Amino acid sequence: MTATQPQTVTPMVDLRGVRKSFGALEVLRGIDLTVAPGEVTVLLGPSGSGKSTLLRTINHLEKVDRGFVGVDGELIGYRRSGDRLHELAERHILRQRTHIGFVFQNFNLFPHLTALDNVAEAPISAQGRPRAEALSEARELLGRVGLADFAEQYPRRLSGGQQQRVAIARALALRPKLLLFDEPTSALDPELVGEVLDVMRDLARSGTTMVVVTHEIGFAREAADTVVFLDEGRIVEQGPPDQVLDAPREGRTAAFLGKVL
Ligand code: ADP
Ligand code: MG
Repeated sequence: MTATQPQTVTPMVDLRGVRKSFGALEVLRGIDLTVAPGEVTVLLGPSGSGKSTLLRTINHLEKVDRGFVGVDGELIGYRRSGDRLHELAERHILRQRTHIGFVFQNFNLFPHLTALDNVAEAPISAQGRPRAEALSEARELLGRVGLADFAEQYPRRLSGGQQQRVAIARALALRPKLLLFDEPTSALDPELVGEVLDVMRDLARSGTTMVVVTHEIGFAREAADTVVFLDEGRIVEQGPPDQVLDAPREGRTAAFLGKVL
């Protein structure tokens, strides 16, 4: 023991040996992944490689069959093989989940609520925040994503890019420690992709911890601290963007990049 122990930072995301099957199909085959606070991790991989399932295990939308899922030092999923199964109380999981923002490919806004109410809904109903305070913060957040003038609009009156920016504001309204994005620009017309990526770049710059599934290699190059390439439920390769994107070590990574670049 020395007097100067290195300071260890608690990872924001800490997955160890995570396995998940759907019936006979093993979708995650032993995933080890850590994301430090303030870091942006971009997850790449072919369709069906397990990217969405991996994101969903992080906020416990999917229960793992085996392994450890930690978020900010708190265990949110843990299973051991054999006869001793450990699971945390559902209440604890729900509480933990409200600190994790999730942005989906298809926005998933409430169609019957205005942009403002979409953003303020969860802070009021899930976090019990005072209504006036939640609405005022929702207005600020809509401003932050460039939609100050659209607060009273219903989703059907907004473009896909605007809807996705409302969805990002809604995720931020939970004051999350962690934001998860699952192909946030894949459903958008090409001319609307940039406005959503701009908002995501701002978030990345301001130190938000993010895990982003995307095929937008330009975004990965600029915003990611770490790029992870997933194939058939395993992490094939991970590292800084210039290494994984420009000098991949694995043939499977190179082949995938050849198709999306
Ligand atoms: P990706 O996001 O990389 O395209 P997914 O994580 O969505 O991959 O899916 C990985 C595999 O798991 C696919 O073969 C998919 O069909 C299967 N899968 C995903 N969710 C379910 C589910 N709820 N039930 C059965 N199979 C599923
Ligand atoms: Mg997916």
